Amino acid sequence: MANLHTKAIHGGLDPAAHRGAVSVPIYQSSTFAFPSAEEGAARFAGTSPGPIYTRMGNPTVQALESCVADLEEGCGAIATATGMAAISTVFLALLRNGDHVVCTDPLYGATRTLLTRYFFRLGVTSTFVPTVDTTALAEAIRPETRLIYVETPANPTLDLVDLAAASAAARGAGIPLVVDNTFAGPHLQRPITLGADVVLHSMTKSLNGHSDVIAGIVIARDPAMLAVLRDAAIVFGMTIDPHQSWLVLRGIRTIGMRVERAQANAIAIARWLEQHEEVAWVRFPGLPTHPQFDLAQRQMSGPGSVIAFELRGGTEAGRILMNSVRMITLAVSLGGVESLIEHPASMTHKGVPVEEQRRQGITAGLVRLSAGCEDLDDLVADLAQALACVAVAVPPRPRVSA
Ligand SMILES: *Cc1c(COP(=O)(O)O)cnc(C)c1O
Repeated sequence: MANLHTKAIHGGLDPAAHRGAVSVPIYQSSTFAFPSAEEGAARFAGTSPGPIYTRMGNPTVQALESCVADLEEGCGAIATATGMAAISTVFLALLRNGDHVVCTDPLYGATRTLLTRYFFRLGVTSTFVPTVDTTALAEAIRPETRLIYVETPANPTLDLVDLAAASAAARGAGIPLVVDNTFAGPHLQRPITLGADVVLHSMTKSLNGHSDVIAGIVIARDPAMLAVLRDAAIVFGMTIDPHQSWLVLRGIRTIGMRVERAQANAIAIARWLEQHEEVAWVRFPGLPTHPQFDLAQRQMSGPGSVIAFELRGGTEAGRILMNSVRMITLAVSLGGVESLIEHPASMTHKGVPVEEQRRQGITAGLVRLSAGCEDLDDLVADLAQALACVAVAVPPRPRVSA
C-alpha cells in the first residue's frame, strides 16, 4: 500500500484506460452510448461497470472518488456538488421521521441550520454536546438515536473530539459515527482508521486547496453503507460534474506539499502570536498550551494550518486587524494556498446569538487565521504591521481569563 504523497499523485490514475493520458481526461458528457441493448441492460443491472448517465457516475468523477477513498482508507466515495451536499446526502440517506442525532458543538454553521431548521421540520431532533466531552456524547444517545455526527478540530474553537472514544460510543449503541474531516484533511487525520463509519469533506477547502472550486465528498468504511449513500446522492441529485471533479483532482495532486508547508507556517505563526502583546491567547493543536495537546499528538499526524487567537481589545481590535492586513486576505474559508483571516463573532458566526457564541467559545476578540503557503517572513511582517495598527488604536487591557 502506497504512502500519502504517492496516493494523492497516483490515485484514480490509469493511463491505459484513457488512451495513455497521464492527466485523467474530462468526460464532459451527460450520457454514454451503450454498444448493445444487452450491455445497456447489464449496466442498469449493475453487472457491468460501464457508465450510464453522469448524475449516476462518470469516469472523471470516479477517478476523483477512488483517489479520495484511498487517501481516507475507505471502501469507496461519492463526490458531491458542495460540502453541504455531502452532509445533506448523509442525513437524507440515514435519517427518517422520529430519529435523533447526537452532534458535537460548535458545528459548521450551515450543518447546524440543516439539523435545527430543516431536519427538525422533517421530524428529526438533535442534541448538541460540547466537542471535548466524550462522556456527554455517549450519555446523549437515546433509543431513537440513529447517528453520531462530529467535527474535529471544531470550527472556530479548534477543540478536538477523541475519535476513538466517539467510535466506541457509537459501536456500543450500534449506530454509525460520521466525521466531518474538512479541517484536518486526510493527510493529517484518517477517522476511518480510528473507527468512524462515514467521513465527509468540503473539498472546497484543503483537498482542492486553490480557493476556486466548491465541492464535497462522502467516504464510507464498508460497501453496504456506500451503496445506501450513493443511492441517496443520485436520487436527490447531489452529485458533482466532471469539470469540477477534474479541477479538484488536479488540486489533490499537491495536497501533501501544500498541507506540510502551510502547517509549518502555522506552527511558526502560532508561536509568534503567543508572544505578542495584543494577543490574549492562541488556540492551536500544535501548541502545548492547547488543552488537548496529547490527544492531538495521538490522533493527528500534524496540527494543520488553522489558528484561533483572542485579541485583548475584543471586537474593536478584531475590526481594526481585519482592516489592517495587507497581503493576508480578509475572507472566509480555509485550506487554500493563500492565507485568509476572518473575525467569527461578526462574520461566519454572526447568526449565532451572542450568549450561544460565548457558550461555544466564540469570544468577541476571536480571530481565525488559515495559514497558506506564502513565505513565512511575509506573513509575520503583515501580521506585525496589522497588530501595530491595533496597538495604536486599542491600548492593551490587563490580561483576563478567557
Ligand atoms: C466549508 C465547510 C463545510 C461546507 O462546505 P461547502 O463546500 O461550502 O458546501 C462543511 N463543513 C466544514 C467543516 C467546512 O469548513
